[in-house]
Amino acid sequence: MTFTSPDHPPPELSTLGLAGNRPLLIVDVDEVLGLFMEGFARYLGGQGLEMRFDRFALFQNIYLPGEDTHIDLETGQAHFQAFFRDAVADMPVADGGPEALARLSHRADIVILTNAPGQALEGRARWLKRHGMDYPLLINSGLKGPVAAALAAQAVGPAVFIDDMIPNLDSVAEHAPAVARFQTVADPRLRSMAPSRPDLHPRIDGWDGLEAAITGVLDAAVR
Ligand SMILES: [Mg+2]
Repeated sequence: MTFTSPDHPPPELSTLGLAGNRPLLIVDVDEVLGLFMEGFARYLGGQGLEMRFDRFALFQNIYLPGEDTHIDLETGQAHFQAFFRDAVADMPVADGGPEALARLSHRADIVILTNAPGQALEGRARWLKRHGMDYPLLINSGLKGPVAAALAAQAVGPAVFIDDMIPNLDSVAEHAPAVARFQTVADPRLRSMAPSRPDLHPRIDGWDGLEAAITGVLDAAVR
């Protein structure tokens, strides 16, 4: 487990236990491998609050039951930090994600690149392990393009980047245009609300289609 941020030098694949002699998949966690909003919603329920899936936003969706105005953003932020400290290991898994990664791991190295507060590290690592996704874990802060570029430059063969957030996908397009990008949104309730740029980053919701598309990138490279 390693931290990355604009202030840290990007990690070497060898320090992550990877030889760098295969294609590389760089995979996000929240709303890609895990249902973050659902996990956070369950946590908030235990705090007497409710998450409404009204828009593609976070703190603006947290309400006291029966209220029309969301709770203040600072309180939302405090719950967010507490969720990552106390409850991030209980998040539901995205359908088919662990199985798809297990199959893809026969052909490519996998690095989990997640933007999360530092206190999430242990819980997140536990969650990944429990669900059969014990791949090298990088906790990042900031846009993901620079670290994805540094990782991809060390790999042999194609690299693929998967995330739900357009700013991260844009950042990878800018810093590492040769890296194949796919957007996916794991929670069906968020799909219609999530911003997309399908001309730039193909959008594939659901791991069946995503696995097929990633396999297509790997196949094209060996042709
Ligand atoms: Mg995410």
